[in-house]
Amino acid sequence: TPITTFADSRVALFGLGGSGLATALALKAGGARVLAWDDNPDSVARAEAAGIETQDLRGADWSDLAALVLAPGVPLTHPAPHWTVGLAQGAGVEIVGDIELFCRERAKVAPGSPFVAITGTNGKSTTTALIAHILRASGRDVQMGGNIGTAILSLEPPAAARIHVIEMSSFQIDLTPSLNPSVGVLLNITPDHLDRHGTLEQYAAIKERLIQGSDLAVVGIDDRLSREIAERRAERLVRVHVPREAVIAADALIARDAAVFDPDGSRLADVSGIGSLRGAHNWQNAAVAVAVARALGLDAEEIQAGLRSFPGLPHRMEEVGRRGRVLFVNDSKATNADSTEKALTAFRDIHWILGGKAKDGGIFPLVPYFERIAHAYLIGAASDAFAATLEGAVPYTRCETIERAVAAAAEGADASAAPEPVVLLSPACASYDQFRSFEQRGDRFRDLVRALL
Ligand code: ADP
Repeated sequence: TPITTFADSRVALFGLGGSGLATALALKAGGARVLAWDDNPDSVARAEAAGIETQDLRGADWSDLAALVLAPGVPLTHPAPHWTVGLAQGAGVEIVGDIELFCRERAKVAPGSPFVAITGTNGKSTTTALIAHILRASGRDVQMGGNIGTAILSLEPPAAARIHVIEMSSFQIDLTPSLNPSVGVLLNITPDHLDRHGTLEQYAAIKERLIQGSDLAVVGIDDRLSREIAERRAERLVRVHVPREAVIAADALIARDAAVFDPDGSRLADVSGIGSLRGAHNWQNAAVAVAVARALGLDAEEIQAGLRSFPGLPHRMEEVGRRGRVLFVNDSKATNADSTEKALTAFRDIHWILGGKAKDGGIFPLVPYFERIAHAYLIGAASDAFAATLEGAVPYTRCETIERAVAAAAEGADASAAPEPVVLLSPACASYDQFRSFEQRGDRFRDLVRALL
């Protein structure tokens, strides 16, 4: 996507990871003169090799720069503004992100083209992938990216019959003042990542901006802050509600018992038996996807077919396979108790592999689900702390490594009398004590399991 809004201007760019490089190339292709920089010399070298002009922005002449483009994750405010932010503000230079550039280009070349933007504390990637999958399965031209997968400026440019489905973090919303998607999705707001966003109110206010800019808003109303945001929006709003007990919003799309219902009670879609959409949190994701797909003109059959064929995302309750009665599930993305809670509620007779680098609160919030666990297999640094919580409530084995844990859990599940025992990797911990990333941890688990099948 060439970005033409800065043609013949000078633009500073900081942050030369994958999306930064794509942004630099897109600006250059649109005729801008880009001065790019990064604190990592390897990234600078890579950009130079790609034909991008680099310059330490400390020494740049900011007076004739038209904009500073920041890569997502370069802090605008928290915990402290990045040094480029101070320089830009001092010189009166506007600060934007790559999605802002996309929005401006869209306004020029294909105003009003279908553009779905998705945010929320949890479920963004699943919902983004699910929406894109349903639309693609129905034959639509879909471009998916943003905070998931491909950088937005590496996608095909906006066009009248092309749908952009874009996941957005709070950072990205903050850097997108002209954000105006045709459909804006807010799944939920819970107090995660606050270290990076200040107060919960500030965090919610950023998310609300996405809803304010949307032609149509789809909002999950199961938490207080999202519900308040929905209340402040009068029109062109679809509310999505997954009732825990009583229904609190009769005019919402309701997801319950693995199905999605219209406010009039008619059944719109069914997700029962779809392994990639197990658990009440995924009913929320599915109901939101149903709302978006309907708004974009898909019929009930197309939507149902797309839901049914959704393969799910790796490392999020990913069904790796079965051996006899035993199901093996990779939920390595669950790096905190909140996420693991979702997995524990979706299964019974669980042979649970957990541990790593513990988060605050450890696994105390999971005590109510201990009755679902047949046996726990501990890995990594948190073993002592977790053993103390499990003691007397859940039988456990200290395995130290994931290799030993998989072997022991497979054996334990085989010996179980339950009809469908589950070997579940849902660590409730960061992976850094033993792995590079949760992906590497999940990949290792998957390899170990496949060798058993
Ligand atoms: P994100 O992209 O927002 O991090 P993902 O789709 O990758 O979200 O899901 C991450 C984890 O969050 C999942 O493994 C699951 O435990 C949990 N999760 C997914 N969807 C939801 C939801 N709608 N509400 C709450 N938690 C969810």
